[in-house]
Amino acid sequence: MECETVSNKFCFIMEQNDKVKISMYTPKRFGYDGEIVDIDLLNVEDGPSDKNFRLNLKPKTGYVSKNNLQFSLRTKYKADEVMQNNTTNIKVKDYINVYAIARLTFDSFNEQCKHIDIDKLDDLNILLEANDTKCIGGTKNAYYQRIGKPGNGSINFCAKIMPSSSSYFDIIAHETGHAICDLLNPSLGGNSKISGAYHESFGDLAAFFASVKLLYMQGDSFKLVQFLKNGGGICLAPGFIGGECLRDSNKKSKTSCEVHSNSINFTRFFMKSINKVFEHIVGEDCSKKNRGESKMNEVALWTSNFFQRLLIKTTISSSSPKSLYHIALHAVEQAKSVCKNMKKSNLKSTIETILSQQLNEEKSHLGKCYQ
Ligand SMILES: [Zn+2]
Repeated sequence: MECETVSNKFCFIMEQNDKVKISMYTPKRFGYDGEIVDIDLLNVEDGPSDKNFRLNLKPKTGYVSKNNLQFSLRTKYKADEVMQNNTTNIKVKDYINVYAIARLTFDSFNEQCKHIDIDKLDDLNILLEANDTKCIGGTKNAYYQRIGKPGNGSINFCAKIMPSSSSYFDIIAHETGHAICDLLNPSLGGNSKISGAYHESFGDLAAFFASVKLLYMQGDSFKLVQFLKNGGGICLAPGFIGGECLRDSNKKSKTSCEVHSNSINFTRFFMKSINKVFEHIVGEDCSKKNRGESKMNEVALWTSNFFQRLLIKTTISSSSPKSLYHIALHAVEQAKSVCKNMKKSNLKSTIETILSQQLNEEKSHLGKCYQ
């Protein structure tokens, strides 16, 4: 069975070996342009749902009647054919899309957590409100809220205007990032402006790592090499609110101490470090020995995985940060423990040196806002 991506059909369909093929919108990154692709996920139940995510499929406003939402396995759901009403079609797509991207983001972090013996993510328990009509914070808003235990709660996507936040890869991955960050370190979820800025940066970096995971699932790994060779940086959800990027990690000007604005400083420190480590290893391993494309793909993925693990370690072990500079300094110190099993000791010290240099370069921006 095939999903009919070419004809823009969204699907949620049983494949062989317990795999489910599910449709989602790509990010606008790595040469993707928000088009529909299908990914394979494991352990997906009706809904779609699994032990960490469930969807609220009964919106009080009744955009979609229950009978039309048969997400049962083996049932190919053709939104465009079943319902002619445009609003309804978009809602159905959004449900599937939100689930697929939240799971992709979760899987990407869970995979790296397991490499460093962290099993905390098993406790994530999120209700996805893809069709939120209360819209707290405005019609373009999406937010994670903890309900009860850390990492438990809901992610709400306002659906009053189209296209809503629930059709944007980066927004969904970012909010899932908030839930993951909350679970990894509940103390960062307080009212501190610095923890808040770090949370926002974690969300934006989650959108990057989720899109890297997508690349490798799609067999498009060389796009990461091209991205890193071109300098990297995160342009979050371009086009969502006018202009180019909702946030741009390459922009240094006009940053205030408001959490979203200040978060850019940590995101830039992190992304530039990824770039420099990649450039260094590629320079050492690839040019001289001329090992070409497959080696560069390997280095790009290795670097991305290393930094995702570093982000996880940094998050877990941070407490009451005074500034983003202090968290970045802590990240540099954590590099040793992420490097622990690395055979090449010279690479270990090189990574530490690169991170320290980057920290110095960004010091004035990272330390601008103090708690
Ligand atoms: Zn956020």
